[in-house]
Amino acid sequence: MKIAVIGGGASGLVTAITAMQKARSENKKCEITIFEARDRVGKKILATGNGRCNMLNTDEAPFYFSRNNFHSHAIRSFDAESNLAFFADLGLYTRTDEEGRVYPLSNQATTVLDTLRTECERLGVKTKTDCEIKSIKADKNGFALNNEMYFDKVVLSCGGKAAVKNFNGYDLLSQLGHRVTEIAPSLSKLNTADTKDVKQLQGIRHKVTLTLTVDGKFVTKESGELLFAKYGLSGIAVMQLSAYITRFGKKQKAVVSADFVPSFTSDELEKAVQRIIAHDEKQRCENLLSGFMPKKLGEVVLKSISINPGEEVGRLNEKDVAAIVRKAKKYPFPIDSVRSFEDAQVTAGGADTEYFNPSTMESKLHKGFYAVGEVLDVDGLCGGYNLMWAWSSGRLCGESIIK
Ligand SMILES: Cc1cc2nc3c(=O)[nH]c(=O)nc-3n(C[C@H](O)[C@H](O)[C@H](O)COP(=O)(O)OP(=O)(O)OC[C@H]3O[C@@H](n4cnc5c(N)ncnc54)[C@H](O)[C@@H]3O)c2cc1C
Repeated sequence: MKIAVIGGGASGLVTAITAMQKARSENKKCEITIFEARDRVGKKILATGNGRCNMLNTDEAPFYFSRNNFHSHAIRSFDAESNLAFFADLGLYTRTDEEGRVYPLSNQATTVLDTLRTECERLGVKTKTDCEIKSIKADKNGFALNNEMYFDKVVLSCGGKAAVKNFNGYDLLSQLGHRVTEIAPSLSKLNTADTKDVKQLQGIRHKVTLTLTVDGKFVTKESGELLFAKYGLSGIAVMQLSAYITRFGKKQKAVVSADFVPSFTSDELEKAVQRIIAHDEKQRCENLLSGFMPKKLGEVVLKSISINPGEEVGRLNEKDVAAIVRKAKKYPFPIDSVRSFEDAQVTAGGADTEYFNPSTMESKLHKGFYAVGEVLDVDGLCGGYNLMWAWSSGRLCGESIIK
């Protein structure tokens, strides 16, 4: 059996390895070729987790955006434990942090890629780099790629549009009559509607809790470091919120409210501010919040309620203090948009999963055609979930393609 894997990324490498391992264990003859458009396989893996590769998450109930829980068969069949064992069998060991995020013990994404590449070599998987697949045709004998290469089965593991310059994966899908759902950047930064405040704060980082509302209704909450940029907001908590915002329409109003003092309740903060005022009534307002947040951020909070940072704190009344606390605990940033695919880590949307079998990853339209990883309409939050989807869907496909 001749199998083509289109895309030598996370999901394609693991599909090829699993299929070849299974074929060998069952004494089945099988030839697998990975076609990779770039000059090396797995380049995106190298960029993951800031070069450290957050490979998995041990969360017992991982959450994915997917229609009719398409992801769940693959994720349940090849859960975190099973993926850890898969990598340990190849000699790759890991550590898990307190939030369940798994990294290679080497702390280097290169180790993950080298492990997969070496196993492909050992198993005799062929790799053709600098080889972009531009066309795919199906007939009763199998599949023709680029009108010149013929295969019995084909796996589409070409990833998505996030952080990629040229991408034709959706075109390949439509050549086979597969529908692609609306796509949008996810796990990206956010453009705020007004950039006056964020521009002043550019470069400042602060630990916060962020609440997302859309059209005034609560959607979700995230805690983490907020980073101000000239266009808006960045940081992991912001990227998590982007995954929700990207699914709402442009006409819907998304607002991210920041709690700049999440470790204090409003009452505690009010008492603390009053104590600071009572301690030295002559000090300037600009120092009032600097025990809780970067000074510049404190000044922006004060200015937003028309309090002059140069004023003496003794001039503030109870109402002023209550207003300061309200703003420090809930500072609204109306959102204009999620930033582009260039800044995104993953694609929301993709191959319509209605036309694929979740137990095998095989197309319902063309027997012998499979799709895995990010090209499908399945995506997760930051924390190792997207690579986990790539590994798990790839392993499920690798097993079922040999059956
Ligand atoms: C900066 C960044 C950091 C990230 N960090 C993490 C992280 O720490 N943890 C996590 O879980 N996820 C992370 N992700 C997301 C994760 O990398 C992807 O979800 C995952 O790589 C998807 O795997 P894939 O195999 O589906 O696609 P990819 O890994 O993108 O692989 C697809 C491959 O197919 C090739 N290809 C495309 N079209 C063709 C064609 N027509 N012919 C031949 N080859 C083709 C591409 O060149 C590519 O090599 C990150 C993403 C980015 C951009």
